Amino acid sequence: MTKKYTNGEMTIVWQPALCIHSRICWSNSLGLPSVFKPMEKPWITMEGSTTERIIEQIKKCPSGALSFYFNNEVSKES
Ligand code: SF4
Repeated sequence: MTKKYTNGEMTIVWQPALCIHSRICWSNSLGLPSVFKPMEKPWITMEGSTTERIIEQIKKCPSGALSFYFNNEVSKES
């Protein structure tokens, strides 16, 4: 299963089967709890931060469960 979340500019791809629940993405010290909220649905709310900051956070995911692409890169390919 793959879930996608977009803010129009970029899309976050989340693969729950890969998530090792490290808590990094939503911890107060290392994460971005304004975007990643595991107790809510949807658990990712991209309005909570900027594209740049979200990408920085995705790169810290140790399992590869979080990845992203820019929406305009997809439209260029198709
Ligand atoms: S940082 Fe990655 S592995 Fe850790 S909880 Fe978030 S999605 Fe899962």
